[in-house]
Amino acid sequence: MIDLLKQQQLTNLLPVGIYSTDTNGLITYYNEKAVEIWGRRPRLNDPLELPFCGALKLYDKNGNLLPHAACHVATALKHGTSVRNTEVCIERADGSRVAALVNIDLIPGDGSPSGAISTIYGLTQKENPHFNNRWLESIVELSEDAIISKTLDGTVTSWNKAAEKIFGYSKEEVIGRSIFLIIPPSRIAEEVEILSKIKLGEKVEHFETSRVTKDGRLIHISLSVSPVKDQNGRIVGASKISRDITEKVRMNERLAEFNRKLAALNKAKDEFIALASHELKTPTTTIKGYLQIIEEEIEKEEYKTYIKKTLRQVDKLTALISDMLDVTTLQNGNLKLNFSSFDVHQLAQECASRMRYEGKHDIEVKNNSSSPCFVNADKNRIAQVINTVLTNAIKYSPQAGKVIVNTQCGPEFATISIQDFGPGIPGDKLEQIFARFYRVNRTDFSSGLGIGLYIAREIITGHRGRIWVESVEGSGATFFIQLPIAPERIAGTGSVTE
Ligand code: ADP
Repeated sequence: MIDLLKQQQLTNLLPVGIYSTDTNGLITYYNEKAVEIWGRRPRLNDPLELPFCGALKLYDKNGNLLPHAACHVATALKHGTSVRNTEVCIERADGSRVAALVNIDLIPGDGSPSGAISTIYGLTQKENPHFNNRWLESIVELSEDAIISKTLDGTVTSWNKAAEKIFGYSKEEVIGRSIFLIIPPSRIAEEVEILSKIKLGEKVEHFETSRVTKDGRLIHISLSVSPVKDQNGRIVGASKISRDITEKVRMNERLAEFNRKLAALNKAKDEFIALASHELKTPTTTIKGYLQIIEEEIEKEEYKTYIKKTLRQVDKLTALISDMLDVTTLQNGNLKLNFSSFDVHQLAQECASRMRYEGKHDIEVKNNSSSPCFVNADKNRIAQVINTVLTNAIKYSPQAGKVIVNTQCGPEFATISIQDFGPGIPGDKLEQIFARFYRVNRTDFSSGLGIGLYIAREIITGHRGRIWVESVEGSGATFFIQLPIAPERIAGTGSVTE
């Protein structure tokens, strides 16, 4: 009589996996070959282990997942039947898959079976080409991309469902015929080149080209082609994956056309603004000249007031026209800057005084140092920026009576800040307000074209400086204009000349 230990030694010598389970699916025994096939060593008699089978995952011969509770051992025990030479696929712990034949017999008990004993015979690829092909075939058939294989002379050898859908030819119509069937005459040289690359063992990836369908439509596809080798490593053909990108190409073409039209319209608009502002400039200057003459000649005080008011409106008009001309200049990249060295504290003072004289707001100018702060910049253009920001501070805070201008001189930058106490600017608009023609509220109480800050930013960046705004909605806004200190003023970089 052979004892248990010897029995186990014997089963470990077998080239097939053997294991047993009880009626609840607890694994009660397995040999070493079973461990090799499963790729893992399940715990014996452990209710926390996967039941009925030691593999992590199981599939039937068609590739459908078999839950452990519905696997062949479970059904054999349930129906009291044995199983003979049934194909399964076992997924190992490392994710690899192995095909196997299983045989299951029930272990007799008191009246009913007490468990099952199973053998698993792992199939090598050679023994089971059919099994592996079926897996691949189902993947190929389910693919949304056309998957085609061909010989090196271009004869089609396989053609999946998606290829039928995309190109319109059925398998039967195309297998054995030349791939040139779907290649437009203008692309023949391209296909010849692809085939010659394949012969050299090279791949062609994500190549965009066009093909003709059975009903003569030209479609756009994205193509990847790889060489196919036989068992001896010889290149015997090519497999292609093609994706129909006609819709994508059409969308891109439409988008490009739309962008072309948009650019043309934009250009026409810019030309119109340039022409209109240019044409408006001369009559406005003439009107201003005549009004100034009348202002001097007229005696009656009441009329003098009217003329003054008219002159102020003409100035506003002139400022608008000059902004429009600036936009045109900037669009054409023709902004010219006349650099000179000047004190920003003083410039901020001058701008504030001029503005103070015109408006009802109290403009407080703060300066944290008594010494001048020199920058090398275009003085008129910087004054224009300060005026734009100051005008906005007053214009957009009609209920507040105060604006604070502060200048600070750092080691590398001079910073002018202009703070108002108006409604402020929403957080998501802090950048947008510097865009051309952008206004936070188009139905705003105040007039404007939405170009002042755009021009300001272009001018400041033209000086390698920075302009930005910080604001808490409801508590006002602070604009910062930062300019590099004149190089000769930075300590140790040269002498000061004025
Ligand atoms: P405009 O004042 O002509 O509309 P700007 O380019 O100078 O054009 O300003 C763009 C927009 O930024 C303004 O329409 C306004 O909505 C907003 N804005 C500018 N400055 C302020 C400010 N100090 N407070 C609140 N909103 C402002």
